[in-house]
Amino acid sequence: MSKRPYVIDEMISAKQIAARIESLAREIEFEFGSTDKLIVVGLLRGSFVFIADIVRELGLPVEVDFLEASSYGNDMESSREVRILKDIRGEIEGRDVLVVEDIVDTGFTLQHVLRLLNGRNPKKLRTIALLDKPSRREAEVKANWIGFEIPDEFVVGYGIDYAQRNRNLPFIGKVRFVEEDEA
Ligand code: 5GP
Ligand code: MG
Ligand code: MG
Repeated sequence: MSKRPYVIDEMISAKQIAARIESLAREIEFEFGSTDKLIVVGLLRGSFVFIADIVRELGLPVEVDFLEASSYGNDMESSREVRILKDIRGEIEGRDVLVVEDIVDTGFTLQHVLRLLNGRNPKKLRTIALLDKPSRREAEVKANWIGFEIPDEFVVGYGIDYAQRNRNLPFIGKVRFVEEDEA
């Protein structure tokens, strides 16, 4: 649980997210147009709302799978060391795969996951991230599609948590710490 009181300022509305997902889905359909079945891999837990919205917007046959990676570190900072806590269930060799991430921050998580999955020889491996913080990048990695570029702010909502809270907000908001009586 978080100890310091904070408020959440809306940064990206539910409407903006929905509109962006519609146009991203058209681009993804174009890229994977000839697929027999696209394997959509959500990175737990932050992408669970995003992947739900993306797959329902895609006019392609899809299979949904999940992978959970974790970087050592505290609630607000990631680290270079990435562990796989839960691997995908399905085989991806020779298959079309789309990895769905919530936020690319330093990029270490996505880099690690892409190396792992690429080692299994998929036919085509692409990545979409809802949010990108390019100013924070340390690992050389880039998602093929980005929902929104954001500044170096700590955000929550739309699946993304602060100490396991606020995942159920329908919008993306910025965490702002306040004095006890303002919260
Ligand atoms: P990276 O390995 O790119 O540094 O870390 C990516 C992960 O760090 C994201 O998938 C997310 O779990 C976490 N992260 C990065 N920025 C934020 C943020 O602003 N808010 C929250 N809640 N998590 C973040
Ligand atoms: Mg994540
Ligand atoms: Mg988290």
